Amino acid sequence: MKESLAYFNHWLSFYYEKKDLFLKDPFIQEKLELLKKAIEKSRQAFIEKGSFAFCSACANSGEKCCKAGLEWKLSPAEFLINLLLAETYSLPLAFNTSRKEDCLFLGEKGCSLILTPIFCRNFFCDKLVKHLGHANLTYIQQAMEEEATLGFIVANYITTKLLQKEGTKHGA
Ligand code: SF4
Ligand code: SF4
Repeated sequence: MKESLAYFNHWLSFYYEKKDLFLKDPFIQEKLELLKKAIEKSRQAFIEKGSFAFCSACANSGEKCCKAGLEWKLSPAEFLINLLLAETYSLPLAFNTSRKEDCLFLGEKGCSLILTPIFCRNFFCDKLVKHLGHANLTYIQQAMEEEATLGFIVANYITTKLLQKEGTKHGA
C-alpha cells in the first residue's frame, strides 16, 4: 500500500498546484455538472434495487471485496475528477492508511470515491448477481451508462489536454 499511497499523494500535490486551471476550464465545468447528475442517477438505481444494502450487509458480516491493490484501477485523470467532485461537494477524500489489507480508498462507510474506477462499477459478485436477478442487474447497468460515458469523456479530456505536458514528469 505504501507505493500506492505515495503515488496518489503525488497526484494530490499535482491537483493542489493546478486546481485553478481545472476549476476554471469551461469544458470541465460543463461536463462535471452533467457527470454529477449521472452519478446520482446510478446511485439511485443501486439504492432502488437494494444493491447497496446487500453489499453493506455483506461487508458488515466481515466479507470484503475492496482489497488492497484495487486502488490501482483508478487512473490519475479519474483521481483528479474525484478531487474536483469532492471540492464541489465540500467532501473530504481520505486515504485508508490503517488497514493494509484493504483498498486505499475504502473508508469506514464504504468507498470514499465519488466516481469509482470502471472495474469497480462493473463488479457484481456471483451472490450479488443472484440476489439482484437479471432484470434488476440490467436496470442498474443501463442506469450507469451515462456515468460511464461522461466519466470517460472528462477523463480523456484531462489526460489528453491537461496532462499531456506533465506526462513525462508524472508518469500519466
Ligand atoms: S460485491 Fe459481493 S462480495 Fe462485494 S460487498 Fe457486494 S455482495 Fe459482498
Ligand atoms: S469500490 Fe472503491 S474502495 Fe472498493 S475497490 Fe473500488 S476503489 Fe477501492
